[in-house]
Amino acid sequence: MCDLRSALKVLDESGELVHIDEALSPRFEIPAALKLLDGGPAAIFEKVKGYENRVVGGICNSRRKLSLTLGVDVDRLHDELLNALENPSKPTVVRDAPVMELSMEVDLTRLPILTHYERDAGPYITCGVVIARDVLEGFQNASFHRMLVIGRDALAIRVVPRHLFRMIERAKEAGSPLPVAIVIGLHPAVLLAAASSPPFKVDEMHVANTLLRSGLRLVECSHDKVLVPADAEILIEGYIHPDERVDEGPFVDITGTYDVKRKEPVVRVVGIHMRRDAIYQALLPASSEHRLLMGFHREALIKKYVRQVVPEVKDVRLTFGGCGWLHAVISIRKLSEGDGKNAILAAFAAHPSLKHVVVVDDDVDISNSSDVEWAIATRFQAHRDLVVLSGVRGSSIDPSADQERLLTSKVGVDATRPLEKPVEFFSKARIPKVGEVRELLLRRGVLIGVAGSSGANA
Ligand code: MN
Repeated sequence: MCDLRSALKVLDESGELVHIDEALSPRFEIPAALKLLDGGPAAIFEKVKGYENRVVGGICNSRRKLSLTLGVDVDRLHDELLNALENPSKPTVVRDAPVMELSMEVDLTRLPILTHYERDAGPYITCGVVIARDVLEGFQNASFHRMLVIGRDALAIRVVPRHLFRMIERAKEAGSPLPVAIVIGLHPAVLLAAASSPPFKVDEMHVANTLLRSGLRLVECSHDKVLVPADAEILIEGYIHPDERVDEGPFVDITGTYDVKRKEPVVRVVGIHMRRDAIYQALLPASSEHRLLMGFHREALIKKYVRQVVPEVKDVRLTFGGCGWLHAVISIRKLSEGDGKNAILAAFAAHPSLKHVVVVDDDVDISNSSDVEWAIATRFQAHRDLVVLSGVRGSSIDPSADQERLLTSKVGVDATRPLEKPVEFFSKARIPKVGEVRELLLRRGVLIGVAGSSGANA
């Protein structure tokens, strides 16, 4: 079974889930706990002040959790996602579905939807996957959207000009509302697939099914023909009427800064179903979980593009400090002078929102920002190794950019060592016996909490 509960079981058995028994409120208190636990264990809030359903958060906040729940080694995760994107497969469709166990009164205020940050416009669904069925051709799309509760049966939904946006325009052409389903409480593989962007008309649930080795089951909604994960925790059915717009925002996005208020579409809710004892899944905006889920497909794409221009790419990170979106570090095995700059160009092509990229050699640990800085300090010369571009299309979420015309400046830093000087000049000096002494100190228990002893992030 590939659902949220099976993933929670795996995390629990690996010591990656904490159970919080103190009653906390969805208004600021659970978000505060998720903030304090960010990057640490996932958390299940067993008692929620004023609500019946439990809340879970942080299940995708580290690569280790993705690795555990998907059953794939950390360094294979990018390729596993790329493979699923290239080989989507049809999930099984079932009639009896856990998500249909309970039919609820349509009242969104009964769900423990979190209010996250001080100046947010209100409670926001942030881990809801929106599945829409195209009114002209019947294909489906699944994507993440933040949704503000504006009434018992209405949500303002932020829709950037991507696939769902096009489907709303097609519904308008057809003179019909767009049927949508919001699913909450999903396995990490389903979240990862929904957060990725295969081409238009490719169903992200088919990508999820491949990631789950054909373990995804779908069920038809009760109001329309939208197919949704049968083992989801909560299902909200509704319609987007193409001409309706309301105020949406302010809301804290991936940068941790407030996104502006805009006129956005509305989901009119017509049905709510859930599993018995349904668990509401939360996602703290600007957290590790948000950044990892949103950036993961982009990392994989950067790896794919850079592979086309340099012989060997070791790894790619969209760094946490770079919001999991704007900054990349790439490690390559450099064979020719110029490989570093070619990698920079390929990375910008792979991820148009990318603003700063650093390319390093494969002896640098790119999950360790000090090691990356060390490479810049000892291998980089600005007059020779710096690439600056201006007036380039960039991200809408960077407050320092021209957010109206989406123009930004970009910098590439080639911090790979120059090949004309002997490699010894750039090598990290080593102390013999470190391995043995490390074992000894570990046994004595004196290495706990000492940073830098291994030079890598655990
Ligand atoms: Mn799509």
